Amino acid sequence: MQADSPTLRLTQELISRRSLTPDDAGCCELIGDRLAMLGFALEWLNQEGVTNLWARLGTEGPLMVLAGHTDVVPTGPLDRWTSDPFLPQIRDGVLYGRGAADMKSGLAAMVCAVERLLAGAPIKGSVAFLVTSDEEGMARHGTKYVAEVLRGRGIRPDYAIVGEASSNLQLGDRIVVGRRGSLGCNLRIHGRQGHVAYPHKADNPIHRLAPALAELVATEWDRGNANFPPTSFQISNVHGGTGANNVIPGEAEVIFNFRYCTESTAESLKARVHAVLDRHLPHYEADWWHTGEPFLTRQGKLIEAAQAAIGEITGLRAEQFTGGGTSDARFIAPLGTEVVEIGPINDSIHKIDEHVNVEDLDRLSRIYENTLARLLQ
Ligand SMILES: [Zn+2]
Repeated sequence: MQADSPTLRLTQELISRRSLTPDDAGCCELIGDRLAMLGFALEWLNQEGVTNLWARLGTEGPLMVLAGHTDVVPTGPLDRWTSDPFLPQIRDGVLYGRGAADMKSGLAAMVCAVERLLAGAPIKGSVAFLVTSDEEGMARHGTKYVAEVLRGRGIRPDYAIVGEASSNLQLGDRIVVGRRGSLGCNLRIHGRQGHVAYPHKADNPIHRLAPALAELVATEWDRGNANFPPTSFQISNVHGGTGANNVIPGEAEVIFNFRYCTESTAESLKARVHAVLDRHLPHYEADWWHTGEPFLTRQGKLIEAAQAAIGEITGLRAEQFTGGGTSDARFIAPLGTEVVEIGPINDSIHKIDEHVNVEDLDRLSRIYENTLARLLQ
């Protein structure tokens, strides 16, 4: 453990800023100041109370983007934390604080990696930082917005590294190369209320719903592929009934969710669901929400460079992983960019006493530096 580690110092400075989504609390300015000293051109693409920093050095290709978020999730009950979540504290070689793993250490390691890289051999191509304060919330005005701006300008980054906590048990044992998509629906079925003794005078929405749900549950949506498990359909809520045992209800409600792979699309899944519902339900409303496209980065130079760098620094062969929730990589990948997520161990993210191993900070920074050197020098 190095007490004078620049990555440790910057991580601590970032943790002490109380940046609850969408409040950046000055984190981007701190990062921007460091990048400006290196000659980066800073551009603030702030939107609806969200801070977005786009900082680029160089005009030539290839373009490597280092991406991350400064916002953190709420602390939860403060009295359950061993130390103040916004006063970073080191105990037994572990740094504690909200954002320690998700993902202020990743951002700090990226900034310090670029500082060392630029002090060495000149780079061929460009490096940019895409930093937002809206990832943990609705994520509408952050990376998604910046990606739209880039698309509008015809800028297509060749590579992007997102510094999310990707590691499982040891730093570098896992990198994220894709994520499943998420699609959900609130379904409301209309019938006609009545007395259970007079069913011919009523229309029972639960009876109409039951065969529709049975069919949806039994459907094989796809078979998955080498990188993803099959698309899964899960019903999370079923509501119906008035509470009385002799009343046929007038309405019923269901909530369901797809975690889908790259073999399906949101549109294809919706169309197939509607085909089933139309057959069984004369009157219904389906209110869909789509919170993430699936993506899978291609097997290219970035994965190769990242794995070689991780091997050199940690001695591990990083597993390529597509599980877990969503991340901002889903907004960058559609630009045609090779994207991977590389970051610290993720077991404490969003939890009480969130932490990162101090010795992993410099190692993570060296992984980023080594990956960049392989692609840009
Ligand atoms: Zn995160």
